[in-house]
Amino acid sequence: MNVNGTRILTTSSIVVAALSAASTLAFQQPLHTSGADGALDAQAESVMARFDGHKVIRAWIESEEELELVHFLSDDIWNDTYGIGGPLDFRITPEMYDILVGSGLPFEVMIDDVQVLIDAERADDGFENPAEDPFFNDYQRLSDVVAYMNTLANLRPDLAEVVDIGDTVRGRDIFALRITGPNFEPTRPGLLIHGGQHAREWITVSANCYIADTLIRQYDTDPYIKDLVDTREWWIIPVMNPDGYEYTWTNYRLWRKNRRSSYGVDLNRNWGYHWGGPGSSDSTNRETYRGDAPFSEPETQAMRDLCLDHPNIVGHIDIHSYSQLILYPWGWTRYLPPYNDTFDAISSEMDQRIEALYGTIWRYGPVYTTIYPASGVSSDWTFGDRRIWGFAFELRDRGQYGFVLPKSQLLPASKEAREGVFVLAEQELEPLMVLDVGWLERGQPAEFKVTRATPGSDVYFFYSIRGDDEQTFWPDLNVTLDIESPLMAATATADASGTAILNRTMPNLRALIVIWLQAAEYGRTTNVVLTQIN
Ligand SMILES: [Zn+2]
Repeated sequence: MNVNGTRILTTSSIVVAALSAASTLAFQQPLHTSGADGALDAQAESVMARFDGHKVIRAWIESEEELELVHFLSDDIWNDTYGIGGPLDFRITPEMYDILVGSGLPFEVMIDDVQVLIDAERADDGFENPAEDPFFNDYQRLSDVVAYMNTLANLRPDLAEVVDIGDTVRGRDIFALRITGPNFEPTRPGLLIHGGQHAREWITVSANCYIADTLIRQYDTDPYIKDLVDTREWWIIPVMNPDGYEYTWTNYRLWRKNRRSSYGVDLNRNWGYHWGGPGSSDSTNRETYRGDAPFSEPETQAMRDLCLDHPNIVGHIDIHSYSQLILYPWGWTRYLPPYNDTFDAISSEMDQRIEALYGTIWRYGPVYTTIYPASGVSSDWTFGDRRIWGFAFELRDRGQYGFVLPKSQLLPASKEAREGVFVLAEQELEPLMVLDVGWLERGQPAEFKVTRATPGSDVYFFYSIRGDDEQTFWPDLNVTLDIESPLMAATATADASGTAILNRTMPNLRALIVIWLQAAEYGRTTNVVLTQIN
């Protein structure tokens, strides 16, 4: 890899130079082979988009102007989240590469020809992992993934079942493998593990299948695995975005989003907690397009409803690639999340255990401060709305192959993912308090419900009319509230099941008012609910 160019031009002159060079080129040939191009939908199933001569570039972006330049040069950013001040990986056509070289922006070439890697990925190189099922010799198409999930369930119908959790925007089924030991009771802690939210991150699909494979096939022979199955309820969704995943096999290997219309929605900007904030785009042609409303997409709705229907779910890992990262909330703000010490301790153990396998280098921390802001991501919702301990992994590698990870790394990468997931599964995760609020209307009665409180404890209900951008220490309860200038409204006592219900008649306000609500008992807080009195 060579570092090319020196930063000799002012950033605005870079863009001007690039734009003028491009306007000449634009008359000669189309510059982009964009995945967001509606014409692609007209392609026959068998026509795969090609990326001959396309490079993946890594540049260190120091200003808005340089970011603008990259967006001009490329419509395919490879980082899951990105911003000013750090490395930015993007795919670039040969024509645009010439403009990049002329721009003076320093960069490295990470991948010299993307098509060469894609061709190698599909070639039958006779690679085998003899100790494992042949399924893990290669990446697998959607139909084969679903068939394998059924194979596993049929091997152990006493432990596993395939569950249809919802449909995609184009009508495909989204399947989960539910795995748990005998004598299930709804209080058994649940774990939600999923891959393929971003279609092109193929390794994440294999890794999820591999984790399920281990739980099923080693149940009888490994007491450690048997314990993980008997004491947990596993929900494993290898392909959260089946439309997009299939599209990467039939039309466009590097597709990221779902398949809404011709442009697609970035499902991992569509979850409904601080949706629309920094690190998401309102432009349909961006890879981080968040959709037109929180949970506008059936794929994210299905995941949300799974969590709401199974309140025993206490842990969540959303598996992505690439960069070798363990991430936890928040993505939307630089503030550390409640229970940061626990998040940090679990992540640290994941990091050590993963690195111990093959010596790969990983990093961990909150999304916002470890990489970049990202709003509407899955773990912000699972933790922010449901108080599920939510994480995201970015699997191998660190950019040498990016999304087109050679199949020789399929099993090592899957074993790293499995190790990290098992660290979470081993934890006796504290079920955190959850606040649910119904419809609020002026002058009408309303119900506020807290679950998972300590039985018999006094639960305090707070509200703010200012927001949740600042934290407030409340000494009487020894808690830090996540709302600004909190006001204490009332208290209720938790019953023997840890549920505290407050019934209040809403004030007769003259206008609709937006409020932030949070509850707490001594030493513990709930999620923040943003709502309005209608
Ligand atoms: Zn991703």
